[in-house]
Amino acid sequence: MQKKRSFQRPVIVISRCIEHDPVRYNGDMISSPEVAAMKPYVSFIPVCPEVEIGLGIPRSSIRIVRTSAGDRLIQPATDRDLTEMMDDFSQTFIQSLPPVDGFILKNKSPTSGIANVNVYPSGGKSRAIEKGPGFFGKRILQAFSDYPIEDEGRIRNLRIREHFLTRVFMLADFRQVESGGTMSALVKFHSENKLLLMAYSQAGLATLGRIVANAPHYPPHTIIPEYRRALLKATRLPPRYTSHINVLLHSFGYISDHLSSEEKRFFLEQVEAYRSGRLPLPAVRIIIQTWLLIYPVAYLKNQTWFAPYPDGLVSLPAEELQRGREMYEQS
Ligand code: SF4
Repeated sequence: MQKKRSFQRPVIVISRCIEHDPVRYNGDMISSPEVAAMKPYVSFIPVCPEVEIGLGIPRSSIRIVRTSAGDRLIQPATDRDLTEMMDDFSQTFIQSLPPVDGFILKNKSPTSGIANVNVYPSGGKSRAIEKGPGFFGKRILQAFSDYPIEDEGRIRNLRIREHFLTRVFMLADFRQVESGGTMSALVKFHSENKLLLMAYSQAGLATLGRIVANAPHYPPHTIIPEYRRALLKATRLPPRYTSHINVLLHSFGYISDHLSSEEKRFFLEQVEAYRSGRLPLPAVRIIIQTWLLIYPVAYLKNQTWFAPYPDGLVSLPAEELQRGREMYEQS
């Protein structure tokens, strides 16, 4: 029987104005149902760089201004140039962080944004001439390349959120490997994540497999960081649906000997329904999980691909959740 997975708590740095404190320039807080849903499962480290460098709440807004000396972080109402203060804070903050698994930053903020932040030609009334990351966001992207880094706008998208959650829970597990520091913990992590890694990248899985195979020749303190770097690279892009189909068929191959021809045909029809977009992945994956209750296959049990993050965070598109219930409400 497949064992229920237990999850480590990912550590995620978050912009403090998202679901934490009313620290925005106008004294507002941003509401994010997606972030609120994560609170029971995640340890957040909230940070507001603008408050940390001494700007008050409320405060005059700031913007990125392109000058001959490069892009500067300016508060037009006071004419203050905050660039050095923000860079110093960002550096100190990054150096003081404990091990973290990901970031959720405020979108479009000249400080915290990771993309699409307006760059202006002046502090006065003018049109944006370019878009890019904010000052703090840029430092995070540089220091944590390949990490799960999202903003609260993008994370509303189901596919982006699934990819983010899968990675932060995977990295939280990997921190346990790092704190244990043993080869056996690394081998266990690799075996339990094989299907998930296969879905992400066959080439990445092969690279990680080679690192584990060579592990006996090297001390754990060199192999484990090498594995982490390769793991981050292998999972940088979300899996394609065709890769999930490969994993479905690969798993099916371990069970199919036990199945009747009708059961096999039924399963393959559901795979085709997933391929053509008529069924979501969990609806097909659960068929394999159900068979695993009857036919225990050692290789498949404990595979994280079956439950990449807690059930409480699994969500369907809003229209699917609503299911036209209002149409049947009694007046
Ligand atoms: S976007 Fe960043 S700097 Fe602005 S209020 Fe939120 S946390 Fe503070």
